[in-house]
Amino acid sequence: MDIKIPGLHHVTAIASDPQRNLDFYAGLLGLRFVKRTVNFDDPGTHHFYFGDARGTPGTILTFFAWPGARRGIRGTGQVDAVAFAIPKNSTGYWLERLKQEHVPAERTSPRFDEELTRFIDPDGLLIELIESGAPPNVEGWHGSSVPAEHSIRGFHSVSAALEGYERTAKLLTDSFGYLLVNQSNNRFRFASQNETAAGRVIDLLCMPDAQPGRVAAGSVHHIAFRASDGEEQRQWREHLVALAYNVTPVIDRVYFHSIYFREPGGILFEIATDPPGFTLDEDLNQLGESLQLPPWLESSRAQIEKVLPPIAPPTNQ
Ligand code: ZN
Repeated sequence: MDIKIPGLHHVTAIASDPQRNLDFYAGLLGLRFVKRTVNFDDPGTHHFYFGDARGTPGTILTFFAWPGARRGIRGTGQVDAVAFAIPKNSTGYWLERLKQEHVPAERTSPRFDEELTRFIDPDGLLIELIESGAPPNVEGWHGSSVPAEHSIRGFHSVSAALEGYERTAKLLTDSFGYLLVNQSNNRFRFASQNETAAGRVIDLLCMPDAQPGRVAAGSVHHIAFRASDGEEQRQWREHLVALAYNVTPVIDRVYFHSIYFREPGGILFEIATDPPGFTLDEDLNQLGESLQLPPWLESSRAQIEKVLPPIAPPTNQ
């Protein structure tokens, strides 16, 4: 391919209680609540988007909030951990903040020389905070109670748990243009060649003896990589189909257009376009303030609002 993938566009995970999810990510972690909408395939449930101040690709963590959803099982064929970048010397602040909110957190030994803190979210999703240089295009959100100098700066990476890693590695290197940049034990680190992109790193964890996981609440549903526009996405689709991947048609997700396919290790991958972005239906200074529906659901707004669980502004903000 002449084109290369710069990095992650978004990561989508599954939560159970929507309010608890909102309080954790917008309240405790201080991410911007970028978009409040519904799951387009299941409009009686929320779809939340969290990100940096501008909803920049590479900073967006989204959740399907399914009240009462059973908890997933960690294992292979799924994302094991989602890592956010935090500024240098911020680990102490975050450990104290998490402790005050009674979230057990562990400062582990540095990974590839970067300070690392890990904890789980209310549904069991493993979250990591990694001290690293912030990508220049990411703007930390200053509208929360997290001081600006410690705010989360988009994704650092995701770790993918795989039974074997070679075919996934080949997809990353031969197709996406990623490079193997580090390795330690069973952790193989790949990075895009775009050194300024947020979320340019993906770690493949080779876990031949682990059981397959089950995706449900507390697990990542899929990860999305970036295409700069629809034409690039069309080229990606053609390329993947030629490699015998079973790829969906282009699906309109309003804020981006998407194609999906399952990578060789079993994780659902998406390629999403950067445009049109989250300011399509709200001004930048009002992102996330009200329920947004795609045009084809607008006529059902009254019914949808009646069945959606009520949401209060996040606590801790
Ligand atoms: Zn997605």
